[in-house]
Amino acid sequence: MADAPGPGANGLCRALIFLGPPGAGKGTQAREIAKLYGVPHVSSGDMFREHVERDSPLGRRAKPFMESGELVPDEIVLGMVEERISRPDCARGFVLDGFPRTLPQAQKLDEVLGSLPCRKELVMHFVVDTAQLLRRLTGRRTCAVGGEIYNIYNHPPKSPGRCDHDGGELIQRPDDREEVIRGRLGTYEARTRLLVDYYRRQGILVDLDGMAPPAEVTARIAAILAQAR
Ligand SMILES: [Zn+2]
Repeated sequence: MADAPGPGANGLCRALIFLGPPGAGKGTQAREIAKLYGVPHVSSGDMFREHVERDSPLGRRAKPFMESGELVPDEIVLGMVEERISRPDCARGFVLDGFPRTLPQAQKLDEVLGSLPCRKELVMHFVVDTAQLLRRLTGRRTCAVGGEIYNIYNHPPKSPGRCDHDGGELIQRPDDREEVIRGRLGTYEARTRLLVDYYRRQGILVDLDGMAPPAEVTARIAAILAQAR
């Protein structure tokens, strides 16, 4: 696929929105597609970190929410997104990863996008089998010494419980426990249902198999973009 420059110059000229639960490979695909089309990968996590690091007014307002693990209010996030996508590097399109998260965010984003000289946005929706995803995520084990990541189901160490690299003990991090992940997936589904309906009604949402091998998913997205008007 290295020689297939997908689109070439001016090829994308639209916003791509990636919607998917934690663990579905959404972030990886968003980065991959952005690279393939030569457009910025605009991730909400990176944006928050950048604003906090350079101590911008929006960053100062977002910081307390980030530190307490709460959702950063719509108005602050939208301010960051508007500022980011109005930079010249986004003029030929961009990939949004982790935004919008709520229906009001999506509605406001539409107003902003409506004023840009781009084609209608497309939404890549990662559909997953929750039971399978839960299994995949709860199988994660982390080396206590070097931080290497394993998965007891699809990437096990050579000897159980020990890191191949340095022999360190493999532990399950608190974030990877079943009840924590179940909670995260539940929150995601409740929040996303409205967003999915909103975009599906506009006919701009594409369902993708989030459980398929990553290379297949990338190829599928590229094929969809090649056909999209
Ligand atoms: Zn290790």
